[in-house]
Amino acid sequence: MEIETDEYCNEIFTFLVANRNKIRFNRLHKTLNALDVKITKPTLIAHLHHLLAKGSILQKKEGRQNITYQVNWKKFEYLNEAIEFKTLIANKLKDEKTFKSSSLEYQIAFVHGILSMLQLYYLQLSILSIECPRAKPINNLGALLIHRLYDSYRLWLLDTCKQSKENIQKALDLLNKKTEEYQNLLFKHSANLPQAQS
Ligand SMILES: [Zn+2]
Repeated sequence: MEIETDEYCNEIFTFLVANRNKIRFNRLHKTLNALDVKITKPTLIAHLHHLLAKGSILQKKEGRQNITYQVNWKKFEYLNEAIEFKTLIANKLKDEKTFKSSSLEYQIAFVHGILSMLQLYYLQLSILSIECPRAKPINNLGALLIHRLYDSYRLWLLDTCKQSKENIQKALDLLNKKTEEYQNLLFKHSANLPQAQS
């Protein structure tokens, strides 16, 4: 029988996702209540069984008094990737000072690099959505995070440009050069396009 997703299951699952690692039953119970998810031990057990039956979480018995629970990351691989990406972003976002104190050449190269990397990641997510439509919402979340990451660096670069007319001119020159390089690469030397292997 298919078990409907209920509010308790949602709360427990969301907590386990945020917690990342396995957690002991008693600690899980205590923490949920501390987070204002008022739940009794028997009720918690019942809903843990819902989640176990769906394969959403894993249970590990490490002795009679020590039963732990964690998200079945294998099943939610996409979710895991999105979370790892979010952590990466959270760490990177602390780097505003370092970024702004680097040379304008470096800042532009970095924004350019991150844009390419993120677009490739976005493409990857789009392809994964074809293979697994169920993962589409998670992939959309990933895409949103990607955009936010790129935008922070872009805005920091603009801050640097606002500092002087010299910076504006230098940034424009560097970007012009890059754009021309791409134009040459993509549109001027495409006489012998490699064919797909069949
Ligand atoms: Zn439930």
